[in-house]
Amino acid sequence: MLQEIEEEIRQCRKCPLWKTRTNAVPGEGCSDASLMLVGEAPGRKEDVEGRPFVGAAGKLLTETLKKNGVGREEIYITNVVKCRPPGNRNPREEEIEKCLPYLQRQIDVVRPIIILAMGNFASSALLKMHGFRDGKITAIRGRIFESPLHAIKIIPTFHPAACIYNRALTEYFEKDVRKALEHAGIIKPF
Ligand code: SF4
Repeated sequence: MLQEIEEEIRQCRKCPLWKTRTNAVPGEGCSDASLMLVGEAPGRKEDVEGRPFVGAAGKLLTETLKKNGVGREEIYITNVVKCRPPGNRNPREEEIEKCLPYLQRQIDVVRPIIILAMGNFASSALLKMHGFRDGKITAIRGRIFESPLHAIKIIPTFHPAACIYNRALTEYFEKDVRKALEHAGIIKPF
């Protein structure tokens, strides 16, 4: 089922981003993961490889997981928008709108306990999707938004790429990853 969605994404032409992509980047990981990590959109390296979070931001993310003894194969990783916006510009509203049903379907199949929404775009999209009002990432990061309707918890945090530009954010990002892993039952609380 998850593979069917991923294959559909690879063939998708619902928004203009298909014209400039090398590869669509559907997502990867465990199909019944208790934790799903969602970023904004693929970057240059992700576009070339067709895999999520394989560039510098991905390295930071993978290392943060490793620090907690967790491998990428234990979780599911994807983005709000599955094709790279040219020059890594921000995804446009209409692109997010066209692509979001794929993320919804991935969530419905994986049924994670926790979604760690990384960055403004992912936080905003996921909070709105689950009936919450979004807010500035600096104000809402680390908070747990629990959706009783969807039996899911969302934790907004900084995008790992933001941590590369501003190392002071890394401490908060690491805390939020740990919190997400704990609440998903992947690691034990300290
Ligand atoms: S970004 Fe999403 S909606 Fe647009 S072409 Fe790619 S998969 Fe389709």
